[in-house]
Amino acid sequence: MEPVGSPTVHPGGALVADVLLLLPLARTYTYSVPEALAGRVRRGAQVACAVRNRAVSGLVIAVRAPRDDDPPRLSALTDVVANRAPWPPDLMDLLDWAARYYIAPQGVVARTAMPSLFARRAPKSEATVRFVQQPDAPPRSPRDRTILEALEAAGEMDLAEARALVPDGITSIRRLLAKGCLRMDLRAPDEQEPPDRPAHVERLEPTADQAAALQKILSAVHGEKYAGFLLHGVTGSGKTEVYLYAIEAALERNKGAIVLVPEIALTVDLRRRFEARFGGIAAVLHSAMPESRRAKVWDDVLSGRIRVVVGPRSAVWAPMPNLGLIVVDEEHETTYKQQEGLRYNARDLALVRGTLAKCPVILGSATPSLETFQNAHDRKLTYLSLPSRVLERVLPPVTLVDLRFQPVIGGERLFSPPLRDALATTLERGESAILFLNRRGFGRFILCRSCGTAVRCPNCSITLTHHARPERLCCHYCDHSTPVPGACPTCNSSDVEVLGFGTERVEDEVARLVPNARVGRLDSDTAPGGGLDRILGDFRSGVLNVLVGTQIVAKGHDFPRVTLVGVLLAEQSLAFPDFRAPERTFQLLTQVAGRAGRGDMPGVVIVQTYDPTQYALQYASTHDYLGFAVAENRMRRERGYPPHSHLAAIEISSPDAREATKVADDVREALSQFLMAAGPAGRKVIVLGPSAAAIERLRGRTRLQILLKGHSRSTLNDVLWRLQRLFGSGHGDTRVVLDVDPVSLL
Ligand code: ADP
Ligand code: ZN
Ligand code: ZN
Repeated sequence: MEPVGSPTVHPGGALVADVLLLLPLARTYTYSVPEALAGRVRRGAQVACAVRNRAVSGLVIAVRAPRDDDPPRLSALTDVVANRAPWPPDLMDLLDWAARYYIAPQGVVARTAMPSLFARRAPKSEATVRFVQQPDAPPRSPRDRTILEALEAAGEMDLAEARALVPDGITSIRRLLAKGCLRMDLRAPDEQEPPDRPAHVERLEPTADQAAALQKILSAVHGEKYAGFLLHGVTGSGKTEVYLYAIEAALERNKGAIVLVPEIALTVDLRRRFEARFGGIAAVLHSAMPESRRAKVWDDVLSGRIRVVVGPRSAVWAPMPNLGLIVVDEEHETTYKQQEGLRYNARDLALVRGTLAKCPVILGSATPSLETFQNAHDRKLTYLSLPSRVLERVLPPVTLVDLRFQPVIGGERLFSPPLRDALATTLERGESAILFLNRRGFGRFILCRSCGTAVRCPNCSITLTHHARPERLCCHYCDHSTPVPGACPTCNSSDVEVLGFGTERVEDEVARLVPNARVGRLDSDTAPGGGLDRILGDFRSGVLNVLVGTQIVAKGHDFPRVTLVGVLLAEQSLAFPDFRAPERTFQLLTQVAGRAGRGDMPGVVIVQTYDPTQYALQYASTHDYLGFAVAENRMRRERGYPPHSHLAAIEISSPDAREATKVADDVREALSQFLMAAGPAGRKVIVLGPSAAAIERLRGRTRLQILLKGHSRSTLNDVLWRLQRLFGSGHGDTRVVLDVDPVSLL
C-alpha cells in the first residue's frame, strides 16, 4: 500500500526519502523530495507528509536515489518541520539497533523514543514585540494606548508579556502591528539565548579513590571514543560526585551528557545537586512531568540549549547532539527494563549508544548486576572501585534470626522475640524503625519450618508457586507441577506451611505488640496520590516512628532517626519464583541495611529467616559483595542462566484459556521447527514450557509462558524474528509478546 496524497511524477535524478510515519501502525513509506526541500530533508529530519489527504508527521530514515523497485508515482513530502534539527546520527542508529535486537518494528521503537507531543507539534518560536513609532493620531482604544505606552517605555517585550497587559491584548497588538506602530520578531529555538550556568560552583576536593577513578574516566572523555566503566561503590562513597566531575569535563569539550536514574521522583537531593552544579543547562525529567514539558525539553536538547539530561530509562533516547558521556546510576535496578510495549533495557541501550556516539559510559552501583560484573571480569568494562564511605560512617551490623528456633509470638508468627524486643527498646529511646517486607500480595509458596527450605522445581531450581484452585504447586519456567506435599521433600518433616503475607498484617501486629508504636505503611496501595510524600514526611518529622513497607522504603531515603531495620521474612524475597531471587535479596538487604544509622547514632539490622545458612543472606550480613558475586556466578554457570546464557521469553495470553493453550502449543511447535532448521546452534537452544505464568490470570487474561535459553545471541535473534513474522503480535484476542533478556518473569 502506498500513501495516497497528491501524487506527482518524480523527475529523473531527484531524490526520494524513506519516511517512518508516526501512526499507530508505524511503517516506512517512500516519498519524493521536492526540490524546494532538497537541502533540508536529511536522515533524522522530522517531516510532514500526506496519507490519504491527511497530514501526518514522519521521521526520515534514509534519503537516497530512486530505485527500480520504487513505485513509479510517489507522493511528495509536504514540508520539513521548521526549527527542528535532524536527530543525531547515533540516535538514528540506536533506533535501528533496538528494532533489530528487540524484534520490533522501527516505528514502534521511534514512538517509544519520542514523546508523542514532540512528534505532533513543531517547536514554538519565541516572539518579541518592539516599539517602532507613535501613530499620527493617538489610538482610540484605551487598551491599545496602554500597550503602546508600555512598549514605548520598555522598547521591547516578550509577546506573551505584552499581550497580558490588557484583556484580549492580542487583538490590540494586531491592530498596532497593522498600523506600523509595533514590530514583531520571531526567534527560532536555536537562536534563543542559552540558559545561564551558575557563576560560582562549590567543588569538593576529590578523595584519593575518587581521583583514581576520575583519572581513567576523564582520559576517556578527552579521548572522545567509546569506553565502558563499572563504578562500584557503596552508597555514600561519592559516586555522584564522580559523575558530576566527568560531566563537567564533557561540557568543557562542548559535549553533552545523559544521566539515567532508576526513579527520579524519589531523588530530590539529586535534582538539587545537578541544578546547583549546572543551572539552566541541565534538565531533570521526572515521571510526573506533563507531556508538554517533556516535549519542550526534547526540543531544547535537540537545539543544544540543554546539555545535561537527567531522567528515567526513556532519557536514553534523548536527542542529544554531540554526546560526550552517558551515566547509568544504580545500573542493577530492574526499572531500567521497560515491561510493556517495547521491552528495552535502558542500561544495555546506554552501552550501545555509547559505542554508536563514540563516548564513554559509566555504570554505577553498590551492588552491580551479575551481568555487569561479568562484563567487568571479561574486561568489556573497566572496573573502578570506591571501597569506603566518604564520611567514614560504618555499615551497620546485621543479625540473622533463625525462626526455626524461636518461640511463636501471637497467632501470626510474624515477630521473633529478638525483633520484637529490639523494636520496643528502639521506640522507648525515642528512635525510629523501618520494617521491611518483600512485595505486597504476591508470592505464596510452601516452606518447611524444620529445615527452612522452600519447595523447588527439580528442573529449574526456582521456588514453586502455590496456586489455589485447583490446589497445586507449579513451576512457571517449565511445565512441572505437583500436588501440595504433606511432608517436606528435603527432610520429610510434616511441619510445612503455605507462606506469604502482606504489609497490612504486619502493621496490625506491630500496633498490637508494641504499645507506643505509631505505624505508617508504605506500599503500592498507600504510595500514590501524595501518600508517599505525606507518609515519608510524617516519618521524618517523628509523627510516625515505625515505617512498614515494601521495596519503596528501601530506596535512597535518608532518615537520620532510624536505628533499627527489621526484615520480617527473608524468604519472601529468596523464594521469589525467579532465578535472580538470591541476587535481588542481596541487593535489597544491602539497600535496606543502608537505611540504618545514617545519622550520628549507630544502627542495627535484624533479618528473620528460616534458613540463615543461605548464601545470599550470609554475604549480605557481612556486606561482602565480591563473595556473593563469585558464589552466585558459579551457581548461574552450573544452571545455565545469564550471564552464562541468553534468555528470551514469549508470553501468550488470551481471555479464553483454551485459546491461549492452543496458540502456545502452535508457538512451541513453530519454535521447534525453526530451531531444527537453524542447525547445530539451534539444536543447542533449550525451550522450556509452555507453562502457566506465575501470575496465571491477569486483567482477565490467561497467561502462558515459553522460555528460550541459548548461548548464541544471533541464533536466538534469528529464531525470534521468524516467530515474529509468523505470529506478529497475535491474532484476535490472543497476544504473543516477545521479551528479549527478560528481567522479571511473572
Ligand atoms: P553516592 O552517589 O556514592 O551515594 P555521593 O556522591 O552522594 O555518594 O556522596 C555522599 C556524600 O559525601 C554526599 O553528601 C557528598 O556531598 C559527600 N562527598 C562526596 N565526595 C566528597 C568529597 N570528595 N569530599 C567531601 N565530601 C564528599
Ligand atoms: Zn524440610
Ligand atoms: Zn521448572
